[in-house]
Amino acid sequence: MRIASRLYYSAAIVILLFSGVAASAADQTIVLKAARMFDGKSKSLTPNGVIVVQGDKIVDVGTNVAVPGDAKVIDLGDATLSPGFMDAHTHLTLDFSGDFNKRRLEQLDLNVSEQAIRAVGYARTTVEAGFTTVRDVGSRFVSSREFVDVALRNSINKGVIVGPRMLVATKGIGATGGHFDPTGGFRDFLFGREPDYTDGIANGPDEVRKAVRFEVKNGADVIKAAVSGGVLSLADEVDTPQFTPAEMAALVDESHRLRKKVAVHCHGDQAAREAIEAGVDSIEHGSFMKPQTVALMKQKGTFLTPTLMASEYIMSKIDRYPPTLQAKAREATAARSEMFRNAVKMGVRISFGTDAAVFPHGQNAKEFALMMGLGMAAIDALKSATSNDAELLSIAQKVGTLEKGKLADIIAMPGDPIADITVTERVSFVMKEGKIIRNGPPSMQTAAESTNLTDIAAPVD
Ligand SMILES: [Zn+2]
Repeated sequence: MRIASRLYYSAAIVILLFSGVAASAADQTIVLKAARMFDGKSKSLTPNGVIVVQGDKIVDVGTNVAVPGDAKVIDLGDATLSPGFMDAHTHLTLDFSGDFNKRRLEQLDLNVSEQAIRAVGYARTTVEAGFTTVRDVGSRFVSSREFVDVALRNSINKGVIVGPRMLVATKGIGATGGHFDPTGGFRDFLFGREPDYTDGIANGPDEVRKAVRFEVKNGADVIKAAVSGGVLSLADEVDTPQFTPAEMAALVDESHRLRKKVAVHCHGDQAAREAIEAGVDSIEHGSFMKPQTVALMKQKGTFLTPTLMASEYIMSKIDRYPPTLQAKAREATAARSEMFRNAVKMGVRISFGTDAAVFPHGQNAKEFALMMGLGMAAIDALKSATSNDAELLSIAQKVGTLEKGKLADIIAMPGDPIADITVTERVSFVMKEGKIIRNGPPSMQTAAESTNLTDIAAPVD
């Protein structure tokens, strides 16, 4: 009895302590100030930005905002406040940067648990770079039924590890021998069986529906499918269609019934046209899309996630890829610049997405300068990574702009991104849901990671 009552007493103290901590964190008012502010939707920056944060939410925002007397004021000086950036195309559980064949071998000999542990670092690096939300579009490990992206998302949500808010696609769906077939390029039967819907491989409308249901059952927030060939797959051509119109119709219908959006990996023009007609929500890459296809996107309101960083990085290290992939990368890169310029000119909705994992995690913001280099205005590039992505990800009611009542996902970068877009690559302050993740230099973990990554990214002779 005495032990029991003591236990009860201790438990009561612990509860009191924890509720005390929770209450003070919720009541703590933080005021962020900086010389400029990008609110995620306006056509220009606001001077002298002030944001009042209480708990996990923004309670006031503007230029002449009253600062509550008990608030902790953080003056970031000559910086620009912005909603946390979003990347609609990452693979936080993978890494294909550096030497392609070495990575490919690693995927075979590393235990999936070890790859998952690495992903914890990739998640931290990404959020510390200012990306407070990612749509993670594909996490597959050959001959493994693990859902590492779901585990990563859940661990972040539960506060076990630090990382961006994640919307995950699990394995993605593709055809036998297509871009997503994890056994493509290896000899037949090496892995003992042909991949099936449990690996995301589906053929025919009914199997496609089954794969969608299987992925949603296992935690997918969004459905990703590869409807044309890809660059980093060894057994297909980069632009061939890999889903029939009937398969695409089943993909979109089943996903939308389950209230999931559909993102399709697609380089080829024919596959893109058929996917847009089937009603997909976003085309990822879109390299070979002809002007008529881009116009169709505009008409249907389909988002384009250009992932310019992917081809940029591959081209800068082209000698490190097998010859067949080199040829595919050259073709896709040559085509994508004109396609992107057309999309900007026609006013297609552009969602910011990079394909992080094809290049080292944390370098996502380099996409901004590439977008501008191909004709996009700085303010529109910033909108693509905030309000546009929030809309595509169906989370615009919570994040994507700096407004009263929204979650306090706020970052700051030095200087003025309209004058020099590369300041987005030097984010110095990150807050996610009211919690400060970074104010000043990156954490030791991220710093160690980036040193390592710089080595990998060193130019090849
Ligand atoms: Zn990708």
